[in-house]
Amino acid sequence: MASPSSKTPNTPSGSNFIRQIVEHDLASGKHKSVRTRFPPEPNGYLHFGHAKSICLNFGLARGYGGVCHLRFDDTNPAKEEQEYVDSIIDAVRWLGFDWGEHQYYASNYFDRLYGFARNLIERGLAYVDSLSAEEMRAHRGTLTEHGRNSPFRDRAVDDNLKLLQEMKEGKHADGTHVLRARIDMQSGNINLRDPVMYRIRHAAHHRTGDAWCIYPSYDWAHGVSDAIERISHSICTLEFEDHRPLYDWFNERLAEAALLERPLPQQIEFARLNLTYVVLSKRKLIQLVDEGHVEGWDDPRMPTLVGARRRAYTPEGLRRFAERIGVAKADSWIDFSILEDCMREHLNEVAPRRIAVLDPLKLVIENYPEGKEEPCEAPNHPQKPDWGRRPVPFSRELWIEREDFAESPPKGYFRLYPGNKVRLRYAYVVECLGYDKSTDSVRCRVFEDSRSGTPGADAYKVKGNIHWLSAKHAHAAEVRLYDRLFATPQPEGVGDLNRESKKVIAARLEPALREAKPEERFQFERHGYFVADRADASAFNRTVTLRDSWGAGK
Ligand code: ATP
Ligand code: MG
Repeated sequence: MASPSSKTPNTPSGSNFIRQIVEHDLASGKHKSVRTRFPPEPNGYLHFGHAKSICLNFGLARGYGGVCHLRFDDTNPAKEEQEYVDSIIDAVRWLGFDWGEHQYYASNYFDRLYGFARNLIERGLAYVDSLSAEEMRAHRGTLTEHGRNSPFRDRAVDDNLKLLQEMKEGKHADGTHVLRARIDMQSGNINLRDPVMYRIRHAAHHRTGDAWCIYPSYDWAHGVSDAIERISHSICTLEFEDHRPLYDWFNERLAEAALLERPLPQQIEFARLNLTYVVLSKRKLIQLVDEGHVEGWDDPRMPTLVGARRRAYTPEGLRRFAERIGVAKADSWIDFSILEDCMREHLNEVAPRRIAVLDPLKLVIENYPEGKEEPCEAPNHPQKPDWGRRPVPFSRELWIEREDFAESPPKGYFRLYPGNKVRLRYAYVVECLGYDKSTDSVRCRVFEDSRSGTPGADAYKVKGNIHWLSAKHAHAAEVRLYDRLFATPQPEGVGDLNRESKKVIAARLEPALREAKPEERFQFERHGYFVADRADASAFNRTVTLRDSWGAGK
């Protein structure tokens, strides 16, 4: 038999426990190929946690020459909508994955599930229970106490079949009956104490309309859908570990009756993503939107993929992040700065450099003639000479950053202060002569033979190197400084919001930025990565700072 490595030339480089299971199953011949699935419930927008799951499932399929399905787990009629289906499709594509023809819906299997349920009833493995929800809860027991059998547990097969039929035909009200698997009320695992398979819900479904008024439970529909699709490895988060015996029970019973084919899918659990300074629970995200703490699902501060996209986070950065954090068997918190670093690394590659002064202070060069202008040249990318250079006009009055000047410098300050010299990046060395309070401007003199790129430049040894813009040529623009949405590393909810997560400022920008197109990305030198707003390209949104400055009193 071929070893997995000779059969699968593009085996992923790094290893983890899931890859080891997959490689073992390929090597032993249990599975001939890998088939995974990403199974979102279409009841919300995808977030960073889903991105981890998407990268894992599609990454496994890609790495081992297999297939990954996109399956909508649409078993809950009330909360699900087409709008979510569309946005999920968009988000997975945006992340860079392709499921080809393998787009499925759990609701496609409603007929087969119903037939399977009848088979279980016929074999004495399922029954209709008519206890109220409250009574059922009381019978279920607790972690330390066994459950008790329902008085309906031994209902005759024909009665069960008839009742289920009537439930399906709409003859019974919501909550009057359920179908339960007949497993073991004494089980130490509560999930095996005769779990519910069908509930009556007189509600329209986004795909099946009014065809059904009984809907399958998650546990009943999920594993069986996996088996119908011949999934090899069904990867889910840790909270489903206790459900695995039930997952296997349903599939085994149906395979025994030749209703499902072997090999059956194997459920494998991994630790969900917890990210510091972020909430990922759907309930908490909905609250942020509903209570107006953010400007919608695609607010650039939201951990949703639509928000990430607006913030100009890149799919490459997210995939790099998923690869870097890997998968583990135990829950832990991932530091938000790891995600930011992944974005920086990718944006550094793709974003041309531009100059922006975010907090402008006037600088006047007293020995530079009024009306004189000269072009200085700035590289579009310091490591990519083939990206070329662009002219940045120099003149007597400039904008510099307010923090690049200090009237009385703190220790170790190398930038402008009276008597000190700095280089104006790509231009001249200037010496600070003083500060004029009445005009709020810094006075300087320039050394004419110090211009960057000329032979005399090297004679000037200065420690400070600051950016600037010609006041006459720069334009004012709105810049939104986005920061972390939460102020605490393990936020509980809205009480932990960072009140400074969005600051709107009037910055000065270099002339070349007038031509920015919507969603075009740049590095503003010494500041970070910014993107031209998709609706109004004259405004810019900050994607991420250049360095991790969180808590450093930016
Ligand atoms: P719900 O609480 O409504 O079940 P959910 O976040 O689990 O929400 P689903 O649509 O059921 O959303 O999730 C689709 C897939 O994404 C599942 O396989 C789930 O395990 C995975 N997933 C969801 N959240 C995370 C997370 N934080 N980390 C990793 N995977 C996740
Ligand atoms: Mg879920």
